[in-house]
Amino acid sequence: MAGIDIEGLATVYPNGVRAVDGLDLQVADGEFFALLGPSGCGKTTLLRTIAGLEAATEGTVRIDAADVTRLEPGKRGVAMVFQDYALFPHMSVSENITYPLKVRRVPAATRTSVASRTAGELSLDGLLERKPGQLSGGQQQRVALARAIASEGKVLLLDEPLSNLDARLRLEARTFLKKLQRDLGITTVFVTHDQAEALALADRIAVMESGKLRQLGSPREVFARPANTFVANFIGSTPMNLLPGKVTSGRSDGAAADGTVAVAGGSLPATTFSTPADAEVTVGIRPEYLTLTTGDVNGPALRGTVVVAENLGTQSLVTVDCDGTLVGVTVPEEAEPAAGAPVTLTAPASRVLLYNRDSGELLT
Ligand code: ATP
Repeated sequence: MAGIDIEGLATVYPNGVRAVDGLDLQVADGEFFALLGPSGCGKTTLLRTIAGLEAATEGTVRIDAADVTRLEPGKRGVAMVFQDYALFPHMSVSENITYPLKVRRVPAATRTSVASRTAGELSLDGLLERKPGQLSGGQQQRVALARAIASEGKVLLLDEPLSNLDARLRLEARTFLKKLQRDLGITTVFVTHDQAEALALADRIAVMESGKLRQLGSPREVFARPANTFVANFIGSTPMNLLPGKVTSGRSDGAAADGTVAVAGGSLPATTFSTPADAEVTVGIRPEYLTLTTGDVNGPALRGTVVVAENLGTQSLVTVDCDGTLVGVTVPEEAEPAAGAPVTLTAPASRVLLYNRDSGELLT
């Protein structure tokens, strides 16, 4: 078992910045776990505090059930890959990969066999004698991963491991990383500010803001049911529509009920829990979950006029003006309506989320 258990963790820099501000989270043994959030939210500091490169000001970090909060980095059983890879330029690929073993005085013959085995796992065969400067960005990234894996840490920590690669290589490296992590089954925490990367790779995602956890869940959960409007805004390649609304029928006794919520341009169905009629809310609906029709429909719907359509590849993102409020909806590219066309938007109640207008928290 090599899970990570973080309790009441705070990391405060000497200038007083509380980069990690009272965090509790557990990473399960073998889990691929993403720390996601905007620049400056404290993800790198959290990763470095797990590694022991920053000192925790409050709280504890346990790895494999052992309290490592005050242990030096080398004794925590973690292997870290830095954003810039931090390879030694004067050493060959083979020497780079086995450097941590050399530090531990592992015999040369064992090091050679570890280097060739790890190079095989990471598709680096034939490159062992090269220097880092003679490799592509993707190859350098794999050498950094190989060095981390060869060190046989219990936990792999990756700081934006794909950010130095160009877009195409990044996709390739992403697939490679996912397969490698699954094959090795090593507990992995990786930092990213790219929500698409976190959704694609992680078993679970922790979304952070200002040193605090805003949501912890599977990619499906954080995408389909963001716990607050901060996460709703941050996750998704097309931003979620967040519209001011007013519950027109609902109930206040805590039981689920089929209600409706009025928004500019009409109304949408919503399952209301403890949300009485007349409550002012923020309505969250993803462009992917709205259906656009040019005809009329029965039941709750929004009516508006097409402003513009943007090509996203196989889909188009259509912006509709609903009584002065702009609403995004994705449609198959062949169904793209003309600018100025009158359209109707509908959604199933299960996809319409209601948030507290003031706090931004999901009403459940
Ligand atoms: P990015 O994605 O830009 O790397 P991040 O989410 O990883 O951001 P951190 O680098 O952990 O964020 O920084 C969190 C906060 O701590 C920021 O406000 C940052 O300015 C501050 N900070 C980071 N390193 C230091 C430091 N060495 N001394 C003082 N403040 C720091």
